[in-house]
Amino acid sequence: MKEYNGYLIDLDGTMYRGNKVIEEAPSFIKKLRQERKSLLFLTNNSSKTPEQVAKKLTMLGIEAKPEEVFTSSMATAKYVKKKLPHGTCFVIGEEGLFDALHREGVQITDNVECDAVIMGIDHQITYEKLAKASLAVQKGAALISTNSDNAFPSEQGLVPGNGAFTAVITVSTGVEAQFIGKPETIIVEEALRVLGTSKSETILVGDNYNTDIRAGINAGIDTLMVFTGVTPFEQYEELPIKPTYYVKNLNEWLS
Ligand SMILES: [Mg+2]
Repeated sequence: MKEYNGYLIDLDGTMYRGNKVIEEAPSFIKKLRQERKSLLFLTNNSSKTPEQVAKKLTMLGIEAKPEEVFTSSMATAKYVKKKLPHGTCFVIGEEGLFDALHREGVQITDNVECDAVIMGIDHQITYEKLAKASLAVQKGAALISTNSDNAFPSEQGLVPGNGAFTAVITVSTGVEAQFIGKPETIIVEEALRVLGTSKSETILVGDNYNTDIRAGINAGIDTLMVFTGVTPFEQYEELPIKPTYYVKNLNEWLS
């Protein structure tokens, strides 16, 4: 097994499931810290601020600082600031997205005459918000979306994710979105800049083949797949490109 200095670590299904910690997660993180690895928690969830995510992890027994959290909202804000440094944006999303955009100094507007529509999960989404986004895109605004997850698991089953709402705008305008979160390379490249490690010394840890593992494959970094979340172990044989390593739980790594 190769030595890695940098760890990009998924949250839901890897560190916790909903509000319950995954048994092996705290000791895994503790061990990485003892070995002085650089680590960054990497999540497609755009709704929370890094402070909120770090607080949740700490409450679950996984000590974490806000600067060790990188969300799809943060990657989106950095991307928008770079691509449209003086642009105005109409935004659908929650606190995590607005907070990230404010921190990067992105100008937010309520006007459909704008340079970009930025979409993240919004539990208060309305027809009016979707109509405005659609009108803005028809007037030429770029469509940028934090993540393409069509659905995500809740305690009752799969519920619509940000990809599903972004699809409403794509279907009504004919304009494809630029997605930022996993499996896109954009979020991985931005995360590596924050982590400060090179691709060859970094590994991405996650439970979801279609987001986490594909993000690693697309960005050209090694991956560790763990079967405590979305992708069941029974599917391993069918995976078209295998992760670099897999474990049934994180105790099997570094032991
Ligand atoms: Mg996950």
